Amino acid sequence: MRKLEFDFATAGVDVLLVQTLPNIRYLTGFTGSNAGCLVTSDGETTLFTDPRYTTQASQEFAGGDTRIITKHRMMSLAAVEHLGKRRSVRIGYDPAATTVAELRRIEAKLPARSSLVEIEGAVEKQRQVKDESELALIRESVRTNSAAFDAVVRKIKPGMRESDVAAELEFQQRKKGASSPAFDTIVASGPRTALPHAHPTEARLDPNILVLIDMGASRGGYASDMTRMLHLGRPSAKVRGWYDAVLEAQLAALDSIRAGVTAGSVDRAAREVLKAKGFAELFTHSTGHGLGLEIHEMPGIRSKDKTRLRAGMAITVEPGIYIPGEGGIRIEDTVVVTQNGCEILTPTTKEFVSI
Ligand code: ZN
Ligand code: ZN
Repeated sequence: MRKLEFDFATAGVDVLLVQTLPNIRYLTGFTGSNAGCLVTSDGETTLFTDPRYTTQASQEFAGGDTRIITKHRMMSLAAVEHLGKRRSVRIGYDPAATTVAELRRIEAKLPARSSLVEIEGAVEKQRQVKDESELALIRESVRTNSAAFDAVVRKIKPGMRESDVAAELEFQQRKKGASSPAFDTIVASGPRTALPHAHPTEARLDPNILVLIDMGASRGGYASDMTRMLHLGRPSAKVRGWYDAVLEAQLAALDSIRAGVTAGSVDRAAREVLKAKGFAELFTHSTGHGLGLEIHEMPGIRSKDKTRLRAGMAITVEPGIYIPGEGGIRIEDTVVVTQNGCEILTPTTKEFVSI
């Protein structure tokens, strides 16, 4: 069980309604797929789930206050009704985690003199900085992911389908201890590497072609994320030039990371390198993102993000350039911010591998 570090008094609420499963897992350890929870200002957490999870909740949230409610009831509504016994209560809820239908039903059942207050991202903010047990799981996830990549990369050859490569990668992730991929594996070849989020197709790999692989494992609930480029046959000078530019941008971004700098400054470090090489317009996404229980978490490593990085934040660094109709390059590592820099967790080589 984790204590939520949240200033209830300043926010003007007595209790927080927590609805997303990653937030519930973070606070209670409960991994079931149907739950809601309430956190009070004195640090007490009550978990609401349905009868399918009675045993699981008692094991994972051992010693915690669990209420089992009827399966087909709305968890948030059950939680609010549970509060109905109190005289008046100010309930914080996250609009990003509450559907309009849910909100309407909660409002209809709201005890007299109680009120609803919008509170965004209370748990997500705390989740940005990982504790030691979380970092250990992220390290394991990264190792598992890279081991799966290593096992498959030497078997890739012309004639294989993109989808075959993706299937092999996901098989190896599970063989090596992942519970699942952290997201749908991206394998793109040739001109399709210019699509930043391409899904693998039935296309067969040509003998002389650029291949982009973006993959992550989920282990103990925690994600890893890595992108590597391969080239079947020898890359042309032009493609090699793209690769070198993106690698230089990625190294510059990594070099700029330390506790105290803004997320935006890391993005700019990558962007300036690519701008100097005339590739500014081809870098069409942000430089990275936080990751942990979810593949995309705060902070976003983007130009306007003013979040100050803190030691223990786990983030990705993944600049890329995309030339429509020709191809694209992205290089991505998972790193942890430290006081004086960052620790690059991803062990896989960033040499441009020709196979
Ligand atoms: Zn990725
Ligand atoms: Zn990523």
